[in-house]
Amino acid sequence: MKLISKTIKTALLSALSISTVAIAAAPPASTPSTEMEVKAALFGGVPGGRWKEGLLFEGIRPQPWLQSAANWFPGTEDVQPNEMRITFMGTSPMIRPGQMNTSIFVELGNGDNFVFDIGEGSVANYVAARVALNQINNIFLTHLHVDHFGALPYVYMFGGWAGRWHEPLRIHGPSGRKPEFGTKAMVEGMKQMLAWHRQAFSVFPVGQGHDVAVTEFDFRDNGGTVYEKNNVKVIHWQRSHAMDGASAYRLDWKINDTESLCFVWTGDGRPSELDKKYAKGCDVYVTELQQEVVEINSGVQGVPPFLARYTIDTHHTPGYAAGYVANQIKPRIFMTTHMTFDPWLNEESVAEVREHWKGPYHFGAPDGIVVNVTPDSIWVRDGILPDYPNSRAPQQDFSSGQLVVPVPQFKREDLQEPFIREQQVDPDKYYPSGYKPELLEDWPVKKDLVVPYENLPENLKQSMGGHWELKNKNQKALDEMNNK
Ligand SMILES: [Zn+2]
Ligand SMILES: [Zn+2]
Repeated sequence: MKLISKTIKTALLSALSISTVAIAAAPPASTPSTEMEVKAALFGGVPGGRWKEGLLFEGIRPQPWLQSAANWFPGTEDVQPNEMRITFMGTSPMIRPGQMNTSIFVELGNGDNFVFDIGEGSVANYVAARVALNQINNIFLTHLHVDHFGALPYVYMFGGWAGRWHEPLRIHGPSGRKPEFGTKAMVEGMKQMLAWHRQAFSVFPVGQGHDVAVTEFDFRDNGGTVYEKNNVKVIHWQRSHAMDGASAYRLDWKINDTESLCFVWTGDGRPSELDKKYAKGCDVYVTELQQEVVEINSGVQGVPPFLARYTIDTHHTPGYAAGYVANQIKPRIFMTTHMTFDPWLNEESVAEVREHWKGPYHFGAPDGIVVNVTPDSIWVRDGILPDYPNSRAPQQDFSSGQLVVPVPQFKREDLQEPFIREQQVDPDKYYPSGYKPELLEDWPVKKDLVVPYENLPENLKQSMGGHWELKNKNQKALDEMNNK
């Protein structure tokens, strides 16, 4: 389009203005059709409440505020005060460009966000979905298979650098058969692995960004509460996944005295009676699914059939079982993830689930699937995640009326011998004459930098305070709703 020549452009413009002139001379009005004709043509095949259309279910419909009922475009829709928005950021145990390792992002209308598992590669989709790196917090790990927590080191280090200055990284996860298999031990191991990185990043203003708050719960404490705050409660229960220390989560959010929303992510495991007990009646029930096609699958995916069969039967939920359990739980919508999304396989997945579950069902795959949930409607869309997104600005809570940038713990002089700094090329040699930026080689402030909110530039208030503003706005609406 950029190559359109000036002459063609002018020609197009003049053609357009000619037609405008032609329209301006109003055409003669035609005789209106009869009411019967209009009704027959415009409303003929449309149900208009007279019959039920298609196989969709009651309450499965797009909400009025959606910018497009077909697709979700990140950054174009606010989470509504009484809404739960669920985005599948990673959807497969076998990582590939369109399907990163498992992660599910749950945003609530009260401004609270939750991350369920944080598999390798999923951060790319968070960035594409306009989630700031410092917003990837409140992480609930179902278990310590690396396809469920592989992105944790990145989130820990780069989230701290990118604005998680005033709160620790909060991680929740099960204990193990022995202390060394628990979530706490994993975090200690991760810190050790990141010793160099952590020290190196301490020349930045990270504040509390390198602190981790781990909540390790006893994996045997079925139905135990792992989190309770701001009308949100998360419970957990055990899953049979070859080794102790695999858990499922159920999040319940009480919107007001009469309404609440619930989300379950079972993580990996064999179908169990505990799932039926603890997930019962939840609005959105998400489990994993493995299709019963080990031989064909081996030809397509390259997993030897005996290995596939053994892996499923010791670790996973067959499609038939997923539908069977869903039918006991009876959610408002049933979703499966942690599964390959392929044209040849998708019908099979549906057919297996449909053996037992006849209610609303959707794939939580591939990456970018978005679910809008309110007390009266649910809609599932394909999110349009760009390939080359850039990060959202660090989101800050300005409740204190200030932006506080913490003073860095170290200078380069503390972490580096002088030799290699002395070898740096003199900037005057490469900056062209007449141009030289003011170099920031030493952090210019000796203590925390504190800027009153009202003194911040307008664009910074908007970019860094976006989530805080939405949270305040929604909280007000929720308070009004509750006072009615
Ligand atoms: Zn897995
Ligand atoms: Zn697993």
